[in-house]
Amino acid sequence: MSTEKRRFETEVIHSGYDSKKYEGSLTPPLFQTSTYTFSHAAEGERRFAGDEEGYIYSRLGNPTVKVLEDRMSAIEGGEASLAFGSGMAAVSAVLFYLLKSGDHIVCSKGVYGCTFGLLEMMEEKFAITHEFADLSSEEAVKQSILPNTACIYVETPINPTMEIIDLEVVCRVANEMGIPVVVDNTFSSPYLQNPLKMGADFVLHSATKYIGGHGDVIGGLLVAKAAESITEIRMTTQKDIGGIMSPFDAWLLLRGLKTLAVRMDRHCDNAEKIAHYLKKHPFVRSIYFPGDIDHPSYAIAEKQMNRWGGLISFDFNGTKELAQAFMDELKLIKIAVSLGDAETLIQHPATMTHSVVPEATRQEMGISDTLLRLSVGLESWEDIKEDLDQAFSKIEESAAMKQES
Ligand SMILES: *Cc1c(COP(=O)(O)O)cnc(C)c1O
Repeated sequence: MSTEKRRFETEVIHSGYDSKKYEGSLTPPLFQTSTYTFSHAAEGERRFAGDEEGYIYSRLGNPTVKVLEDRMSAIEGGEASLAFGSGMAAVSAVLFYLLKSGDHIVCSKGVYGCTFGLLEMMEEKFAITHEFADLSSEEAVKQSILPNTACIYVETPINPTMEIIDLEVVCRVANEMGIPVVVDNTFSSPYLQNPLKMGADFVLHSATKYIGGHGDVIGGLLVAKAAESITEIRMTTQKDIGGIMSPFDAWLLLRGLKTLAVRMDRHCDNAEKIAHYLKKHPFVRSIYFPGDIDHPSYAIAEKQMNRWGGLISFDFNGTKELAQAFMDELKLIKIAVSLGDAETLIQHPATMTHSVVPEATRQEMGISDTLLRLSVGLESWEDIKEDLDQAFSKIEESAAMKQES
């Protein structure tokens, strides 16, 4: 069977691995080694000179990690990939590769909290400036680009408001102007959207989230349209800064990836039902879910994503204290940052993931003090709904009691 014709659900299980090369081992072996022996000095010399293929030292490459990298290239549709010790190591490696002192970055209006921190640091220390730009039309994208713009960095859906950026529009303008586009695809996972196929140059993931899927690994993955850029990043920002992935984490991520398609379908099924439930609840002022027909980005999401994803944000109809009291009443749903795990998780962006963002910027990003973000897990959706329901009821009861007294 030609590998060209294989579908996503098959690629996440098989691509990048040939058991015949590994004693028939069904599962990719774990190469838990720091270094590799050379059979003679000349072999070492050739490998260091780049005249011969082969492993040297695990900061430069590892066979288990390579299976994961090759699998990611296949499922995102890139030429090559690189694994990192965290999503942030992937973000910083690609940005430090693309940018130099004095450059400018155009960003989506809203980025992951630590990416925001990194952008601030780059500005302060290296005079690399950034702008959170309106990217809603070709005109708007063009207007945001300065003579020193060296990269467009996009998250879509945007965390936590679920606003969607039209990747085709952004990439069309950027490709014409020769500006590389980097997309943080963590929220969608490769199952729901493939930015490289829409014209992006780099796609990255916090593998900690849907790719791992079990809340037991921190990791990052970067996939590039062009293999040469990955070779360069491997030998510069990865080799010299050193944010590499451990072989064991790559092994766990390979295991997680095998079930990505089935897990994502359940995440999406559950999220659709929970979004429907939340939207009608009197304690919910508004929901932010790409699959909500009233969501401002619904049409773009429909065009660009295969399904709506497993994340829902909602504005609690009350005070910040009441929203926090609601979180405390939840029993099944756990209070935790991160997302994409089997367990349903809830967090309060203003005081947790986005607490580093100054208040004014946070308000601009649409992150109010009553916004809550739910990562819908793989449990029975009825149990998730019943947990939300009992917590809402407790808040209602305590509000009623306060009124009486
Ligand atoms: C979690 C996350 C990151 C950072 O990844 P780590 O693995 O925690 O370093 C980056 N972007 C998005 C959208 C994330 O959710």
